[in-house]
Amino acid sequence: MSTIAFTGLGTMGRGMVANLVRAGHQVTVWNRSPVASDDAQLIGAQRAASLPEAVAGADFVLYCLADDEAVQQVVLAPGGLAESVDTGSIVIDLSTISPGQSAAEAEAFAARGVRFLDAPVFGSKGEAAAGGLWVVAGGDRETFDASRDVLDAISETVHYMGGSGNGAKMKLVGNLIVAAQLEALGESLSLAKKAGLDLDDVLGVLKVTDFRSPIFDGVGSAVVAGDYSPSFALKLMLKDGRLVKQFAQDLEVKVPGTEATVTTIERAVESGWGEENASALIKVLAADAGVDLAR
Ligand code: NAP
Repeated sequence: MSTIAFTGLGTMGRGMVANLVRAGHQVTVWNRSPVASDDAQLIGAQRAASLPEAVAGADFVLYCLADDEAVQQVVLAPGGLAESVDTGSIVIDLSTISPGQSAAEAEAFAARGVRFLDAPVFGSKGEAAAGGLWVVAGGDRETFDASRDVLDAISETVHYMGGSGNGAKMKLVGNLIVAAQLEALGESLSLAKKAGLDLDDVLGVLKVTDFRSPIFDGVGSAVVAGDYSPSFALKLMLKDGRLVKQFAQDLEVKVPGTEATVTTIERAVESGWGEENASALIKVLAADAGVDLAR
């Protein structure tokens, strides 16, 4: 059993906290905005009045924050976690951020001798709540081994990707595929509808073929039900798509498919759907085709 401080109590963080508590860890939480006092996912966690109070003396300090800017403010800014965590703590960043920001964190913690892992996650709201995420971690092997109990509590599998920054890189490599699958699903359902196919029949085929995917399955059913309630907000998908583009550009790798998908996402956000699920990008493709994908 470890003492764990956790900040970033959003869609993902609250589910992670529930599973850390369930695994028997002593968890203290703090969030920038107040969270509901009766939040079921936070039952059993102590609430701190401030971030410094939450992290004081913790074995582990975990955060799952929105983006690079949030990490800048919470971790890297003067007085932030990089300057203030106890040197005996292990810090684990579960956010999806740029490899550059991840490297800045690693450097800032290393300067004080604080052990640090970049450990973003695959899976969404449901997997976070069920403790079934897939973690991709980068950092020193001994730090990773010392963190296994904590990472196991939130995940189905944990993958050591190598040195510092490799978790952040793997997350973007995976999210390139997530974005491509959503674009492909939107294009194929729009084409199928325009061609007069029954979308339930189409989804029945997508479910079993050798190109099946849990994303086609889960998102496809939601789209025909007209359900775009957020598990993974479209505005975060836009952030991720832009991170993939920049990552590829820095390495002089061409990603034309991702560029097209980012344009679709930008149009969906401009239409006012940024707070809806990432699958709302499909509404742009359906509108372009002049079809309604809902039953
Ligand atoms: P979310 O619900 O929007 O939660 C974001 C969290 O970050 C909130 O606790 C928010 O605090 C905090 N935050 C944002 N800006 C901040 C700032 N400047 N200072 C302090 N705290 C700040 O997002 P999420 O869906 O949980 O995602 C969290 C991270 O996991 C993101 O990097 C996302 O890309 C990644 N991720 C998400 C999913 C998914 O399916 N949702 C899947 C895999 C990875 P407030 O409550 O005060 O706004």
